[in-house]
Amino acid sequence: MKAYGPVPSRRLGQSIGINHIPPKICSYSCVYCQLGRTMKMQSERREFYSPEEVYREVEAQVDKALNRNERIDYLTFVPDGEPTLDINLGREIELLKPLGIKIAVISNASLMWHEDVRSDLLEVDWVSLKVDAVTETLWRRVNRPHGALEHKAVLEGMEVFAKVFKGELATETMLIKGLNDSSREAEKISDFLTDLRPEKAYIALPTRPPAEKWANPADERAINRTYQIFDEKLKHVEYLIGYEGNAFAFTGNLEEDLLSITSVHPMREEGVDMLLSKAGENWNTIQRLIEEHKLIDTEYQGKKFYMRKLPSHTS
Ligand code: SF4
Repeated sequence: MKAYGPVPSRRLGQSIGINHIPPKICSYSCVYCQLGRTMKMQSERREFYSPEEVYREVEAQVDKALNRNERIDYLTFVPDGEPTLDINLGREIELLKPLGIKIAVISNASLMWHEDVRSDLLEVDWVSLKVDAVTETLWRRVNRPHGALEHKAVLEGMEVFAKVFKGELATETMLIKGLNDSSREAEKISDFLTDLRPEKAYIALPTRPPAEKWANPADERAINRTYQIFDEKLKHVEYLIGYEGNAFAFTGNLEEDLLSITSVHPMREEGVDMLLSKAGENWNTIQRLIEEHKLIDTEYQGKKFYMRKLPSHTS
C-alpha cells in the first residue's frame, strides 16, 4: 500500500495517488497495459489492506505535502490494477472525505454491474470509466477480460451509474492500431458515450511500452477521425497522447501555443490561419514545425487538420 505525490496531472491538477491494490491484480489484461501483463486475473471484490491502513498512508502523505506548502487538488485511487476490486473502497472513501480534498477514481468500469461498486463510486467527486470498445469481440481482444465478466452487463452497469452519478464523469478510450481505431467502432463508442453524457471524453494512446509489443498506438489519421466522430455528439472531447497541453492558456508564443492546443485536440486549417495572422506570422512556421516532426497535417472529410506529432517511441 502506497500513497505518493502530489503529482501534476492534466485531468486532475495536483493529485495524490493512492495505490491500494498489489501489483498487478486486475479484472482485465489489456493488450496496451503499461504495467505489463496481468499477473492475477480477478473479478471478485476482496480485501487487500485494511481501510485504516489506507487512510493512515494517505493522511501522512497529505500532511507531508501541506507542510511543504504544496497544493492538493485530488486524492486519486489509481492503483497497479483495478481499484473497484477492493471491497473496502467505500469505507476508505468515507474515511478520507473529512480531509476535505476532492476524491477521484480511475476505473476500468468492468465491475460497474455490481450495485455495491456503483454505490461506492457515487460518493466520489470525479470518476473515469474505460470504454475502449462497444463491439464485444473487440472488447475481448483489447481488454482481455476475466472469463466471468459479461460485456452487456458491463455496459449496462455504466449506463445505470451515469444516470445517478452527481460528480464529474469522464471516459477514456485507448486507441490501438488495427483493433479499435476504425470509424465504425468510433461511431458505436460515440453513440454509447452519448448515453453516458460524460463531462469529458478522453481519447488516449499508450505512451509507455505496452504489455504486448504488437499493441501499437493508432496513427494520427485514425486519432483525428475518432476525434471528429466523437466531437459531433459529445460535449467535450480531448486527447491524452502523452503531451501535457493546455488549449486554453495562450502564452503569446506562436509555436508554444500551437503545440499546446494540438496536443489536446486537432486544429482546423482556418483556426491555424487565424492564430498565424494574430501573431503576424505565415505558413512558413507551420511548414517548419512539420519538417521538425513536431506537427502533422491530416485530412478528414475533405478538410485539413493539424495535430501534434506523436512521441517517437509510439509512432
Ligand atoms: S484495466 Fe488498467 S490496469 Fe487493468 S489491464 Fe487494463 S490498463 Fe492494465
